[in-house]
Amino acid sequence: MTYQELKSEEQQYVMQTYGRFPIALDHGQGAQLWDVEGKRYIDLASGIGVNCLGYNHPVLTHAIEEQIHKLMHVSNLFTTAPMVQTAKTLVEATGMGKVFFANSGAEANEGAIKLARKYSYDKYGKGRSKIITLWNSFHGRTVTTLKATGQTRFHDYFFPFTEGFDYATAGDLDDLKSKIDDSTCAVMFELIQGEGGVLPQDPAFVQAVRELCTEKDLLLIVDEVQTGIGRTGSLFCFQQYGILPDVVTMAKGLGGGVPIGAVMAAKNCCDVLTPGTHATTFGGTPTVCAAANAVLSIVNDEKFLAEVRKKGEYLKNAILSLGSPAIHGVRGKGLMLGIIVDEGQHSVFANKLIEHGVLVITAGKNAVRLLPPLTITYEELDEAIAIMKTVFCD
Ligand SMILES: *Cc1c(COP(=O)(O)O)cnc(C)c1O
Repeated sequence: MTYQELKSEEQQYVMQTYGRFPIALDHGQGAQLWDVEGKRYIDLASGIGVNCLGYNHPVLTHAIEEQIHKLMHVSNLFTTAPMVQTAKTLVEATGMGKVFFANSGAEANEGAIKLARKYSYDKYGKGRSKIITLWNSFHGRTVTTLKATGQTRFHDYFFPFTEGFDYATAGDLDDLKSKIDDSTCAVMFELIQGEGGVLPQDPAFVQAVRELCTEKDLLLIVDEVQTGIGRTGSLFCFQQYGILPDVVTMAKGLGGGVPIGAVMAAKNCCDVLTPGTHATTFGGTPTVCAAANAVLSIVNDEKFLAEVRKKGEYLKNAILSLGSPAIHGVRGKGLMLGIIVDEGQHSVFANKLIEHGVLVITAGKNAVRLLPPLTITYEELDEAIAIMKTVFCD
């Protein structure tokens, strides 16, 4: 089918909830994708930071293939080895305590919110349930995580939202302190706001919030759904901020393309969710955990992570060296970067880049967001940079 034929059937049969780019993708290899009409693209988006090993990576495809012949799913009423392995790897790599598996970022955040509220309830009884998040954050699309998201444009239509969220300004410790009272149980934030515009947080603020949370016995939940699994050049971004969170959520890159999410809790709170208090049918199936184990076998390696940092610097410097008057800077860490352009121009540039064969996405009001596969080669980066030169400088 041509793009036009597919698009017209999509419009007829699929709910029109997305403003999709005008191409239909067919297959990929490495960091390259081909659309249904045979046109090739360099992928700097990885399905929103999901395909961290690119496309058709032999270690990942082989691990999934082997597992689906053995056992795809048995429910959480039984123990399976792939899940235990994923949890063990994550815990040993971070010094955290235990892991709960979910299916998406939003669901991981729901789990973290439940964990924080029960932690407080167990210790202090009712009334301590408020969670402070940051303005401009993004935490998901369920009725609760929409409310956790600090952007008022997400607080429409779906009333009543879950109560118990308040918002502070990133970097403003006094503002955050002013929102904390006797009813507060947790602070939750991203270390680099992804959807909000690729905005890294100030380390001094992050460390001060960590201290404040410890002092007041509030759980610090770090949403690493986008920043996690090597994306920023360390397995988790918090490792570059010199803090240990109480709860870390992850999803996107963890399965390299399969739907998986996880809540990881530190030793002080990893036994809060007890039998019957939280569950999900699909969470951590052998299939998705086999994929996660394949991803972690590659990404959880200091040499690989150093290469992510190097490629990130290379890409950032190459973009700045274009000297385009349209580019006002590049923000981010590792291979999570935002090219800053005039407000509203990010989607214009994204569409132009895609037309010329480079897949990118947007973030916030003015960022062209780059989340390439962590395995992208320098040749692929150079090809993308040459196309950026055409788009940003001509
Ligand atoms: C994408 C994202 C989510 C939501 O993840 P889904 O898998 O789409 O539910 C939550 N938090 C952050 C930081 C994200 O980037």
